[in-house]
Amino acid sequence: MGKCPICKSENKEIILSFNCGKFDGSRLYRTVRIASCLFCGHIFNDLEDNEKEDLNEYYDKEYALINFENIGVYEKNNPNYDKLSGKNYFDLYKIIRPYLNKNSNILDVGCKTGGFISYLYNQGFRNLFGVDTIYPYVDYAKKVTSYRIEYCSQYSLPYEDNFFDFINMNQVLEHISDPLKVFSEIYRVLNDGGLLCVGLPDAERYSNFYFFDLYWFSLREHIQHFDLEHLYMLASQYGFNIEEHFNTEYNMMSDKMIMPNMYVIFKLDKKSRNDFKIKEKFLLKRNILLYVDMERKKSSDKKKNLQFAITPDAPIYLWGIGREFFYMYENLGLKQYNNLNLIDSNIFKQNNFLVDGRSIQNPSILESAPSDSLLIISAIAHSEPIKYHAGLSGYKGKILEF
Ligand SMILES: [Zn+2]
Repeated sequence: MGKCPICKSENKEIILSFNCGKFDGSRLYRTVRIASCLFCGHIFNDLEDNEKEDLNEYYDKEYALINFENIGVYEKNNPNYDKLSGKNYFDLYKIIRPYLNKNSNILDVGCKTGGFISYLYNQGFRNLFGVDTIYPYVDYAKKVTSYRIEYCSQYSLPYEDNFFDFINMNQVLEHISDPLKVFSEIYRVLNDGGLLCVGLPDAERYSNFYFFDLYWFSLREHIQHFDLEHLYMLASQYGFNIEEHFNTEYNMMSDKMIMPNMYVIFKLDKKSRNDFKIKEKFLLKRNILLYVDMERKKSSDKKKNLQFAITPDAPIYLWGIGREFFYMYENLGLKQYNNLNLIDSNIFKQNNFLVDGRSIQNPSILESAPSDSLLIISAIAHSEPIKYHAGLSGYKGKILEF
């Protein structure tokens, strides 16, 4: 398995390993192995080469299709758009506004369907460019907008040297297996003195933002876990110096699901490409070990509660077949039960996916649930609407929410 993505050392220690369930035939890897580099202290998912290749395929063939429902960028009547994407765009814009002028050539790396580009357009910027590695997103953007959005690898950007004044790279780097290679491309296309804004999850603060047990590691798309020290250690190898940094809160799928985020503004000094500098190599590792310990205790309590709530032979319903479900399935002992009924309101999941041969049902199956059933709300972010809809469907069994 791999070298440290930041310092290239081969010496590492696995500090956490657990399985997560997945849809049948999914390309997503099953075992999360979190490594800590013994030389620089960086925390990363130690994927095999074939797992990395599968993950790339996964984005195009599974991730994009499942997540399309949550992309309301060009659909004004999608309630998700204004509330969550809108807030995130607004927060980011406030931070980068002082660094932009109307003539800046601006690149958004990982622009998805062009949501932030359209936000900047509405603020009066015109020299806007975007790239994404997920083909269905770019294809959609090309069909419904006239923005200059290209499909390409982050390792090979289709622009001339020194073309850009400002590059935005928000929620990208944590997904990338070779972040140094991305920095070498950014270095090439950004002009000397140009600015780069990096937004990503702040691993230093994982333990302060509880959503579900080990959630920040069970997001299997996130394979790098940075704190500011390690991000700087990466960026400084290509002459990037920190101008400003901000700790923020990033809204994910609902108001309940808030990710600790940092935005860092870097200024490029092409003459000062230097060796990496770092002060607190192992502070991140110490914090992560405490986080892991705390989360494992929570899981062991949940496992006991679950065993207590289950009536043998009575049906178990699980509503929400996503990340928390896949964690629960393997780590709370759910996998062993034969009487599981899976529910999700996402029609794409109902029509296309199975979990160990089990189909995913429409929530209306709760109408015929017997009164000794157990309903486990596994979509934590949506527990209130789920309880409401279960009530509407006349569900009379027990409800367990974590
Ligand atoms: Zn390292």
